[in-house]
Amino acid sequence: MQIRTRSGGHDFEGLSYVSKISPFVVTDLRNLSSISVDVVRKSAWVQAGATLGELYYKIAEKSGNLGFPAGVCHTVGVGGHFSGGGHGFLSRKYGLAADNIVDARLIDAEGRILNRKSMGEDLFWAIRGGGAASFGIVVAWKLQLVDVPSIVSVFDVNRNIEHDATKKLLHRWQRNADKVDEDLTIFVVLRTVISSTDEKGNKRIGLEASFQATFHGGVDRLLQLMQEKFPELGLLRQDCIEMSWVQSFLFFNGFRNGEPLKVLLNRTPDSKLLSFKAKSDYVKEPIPHDALHGMLKRLRQEDVGRGWVELFPYGGKMNEISESAIPFPHRAGNLYKILYYVEWDEEENITASKKHITWVRKLYNYMTPYVSNNPRATYLNYRDLDLGVNNNEEDSKSNYTQASNWGPKYFKNNLKRLISVKTIVDPTNFFTHEQSIPLLLKH
Ligand SMILES: Cc1cc2nc3c(=O)[nH]c(=O)nc-3n(C[C@H](O)[C@H](O)[C@H](O)COP(=O)(O)OP(=O)(O)OC[C@H]3O[C@@H](n4cnc5c(N)ncnc54)[C@H](O)[C@@H]3O)c2cc1C
Repeated sequence: MQIRTRSGGHDFEGLSYVSKISPFVVTDLRNLSSISVDVVRKSAWVQAGATLGELYYKIAEKSGNLGFPAGVCHTVGVGGHFSGGGHGFLSRKYGLAADNIVDARLIDAEGRILNRKSMGEDLFWAIRGGGAASFGIVVAWKLQLVDVPSIVSVFDVNRNIEHDATKKLLHRWQRNADKVDEDLTIFVVLRTVISSTDEKGNKRIGLEASFQATFHGGVDRLLQLMQEKFPELGLLRQDCIEMSWVQSFLFFNGFRNGEPLKVLLNRTPDSKLLSFKAKSDYVKEPIPHDALHGMLKRLRQEDVGRGWVELFPYGGKMNEISESAIPFPHRAGNLYKILYYVEWDEEENITASKKHITWVRKLYNYMTPYVSNNPRATYLNYRDLDLGVNNNEEDSKSNYTQASNWGPKYFKNNLKRLISVKTIVDPTNFFTHEQSIPLLLKH
């Protein structure tokens, strides 16, 4: 039977608890979640079943001036997230989570528990961004913590996309968001909203851009920077809130009413669970006005609020790290990453589900000329089985061929090294799934 390893269970295609190709057992690590923080050495050991919320909480318990550059959602697990990269508000300053891992404990296919020294640098390289599920089971990570100031400033402001100032702002964001001070990271979310309802109950659908930012510093400097770099946003002092680094995760996880920090420890989402399908892209040249217009037109074709597009700026430290330092290759030359997302009620019938999935696939196809190509790059942590699957665990030739479809998109040239590490450390392909690294073909 195949082994499916689950830490936080947030895989976009559910690969930690679903298999389309074979019977399997789940190794569920949720109870392996202890965290120890060493403030003096600025390091931490975190077991793979811990969530980001638990990690941030434990770091903050020990120090208000240490943090870790990983994702935003507090229920994501560190097991899958760090092994696929791990991008968040600190990445422009410090890189990805995987860039800041200094040791690990991994169980290999022979059942040995290895550390960085005993696994060797090749395998240690592979599990930080190459998807550890192809190589073994990560039990724990050792992290290099990073400095964060006592005060960070956040804002989340919405603008009507139809206004000229917002269109201008979006163009300026495309050109500048990767170049501004590394302490400032502005995510953008584009979606449809009900903008008004008339007396007869007719709804007017509007398009909204939400600008969500963290600045690692105080509001005075933030306002200055925003006025210089993004004057069209018209950011006001009352739009910004100063708080501690860890509180900013409460803010971006929707806890905005004075909830205690402990809510970060809650693994159960408050909102209703929805099905979703997502896809991702990397942008190297600003998307022209007409193409943005076409993308927004397509947003209007999905049910209100169900589909959205998120833009995450790169630059800063992400530009300085070489493409081959770890398997995650999306570095210099990328302005930003796009996430296309649609969600729907699980109760909806199959026809409705198909409609939503088709919508996001069509949007992705429409964007083809405007995003990276050869390969059309994709983020491993936004796993997408549309890109191809290993459909036969026994047939290494077919798996190798399949991997030439999805592999370069996730890893570019690093795929070759991943294949050779896999062939050495797991020659029987014990750790396998729909998009696991294949073995090198024997001639
Ligand atoms: C709501 C939501 C918000 C997100 N926000 C962000 C974000 O801000 N930034 C970002 O970069 N990504 C984000 N992601 C994507 C997230 O990083 C990936 O889905 C990640 O792989 C989830 O890790 P997990 O442990 O929760 O998932 P799981 O489903 O448990 O695991 C994901 C994959 O990793 C494997 N795996 C898990 N644990 C181990 C282990 N211990 N050893 C070996 N293999 C293992 C699994 O088998 C599976 O293949 C988000 C996802 C969701 C659903």
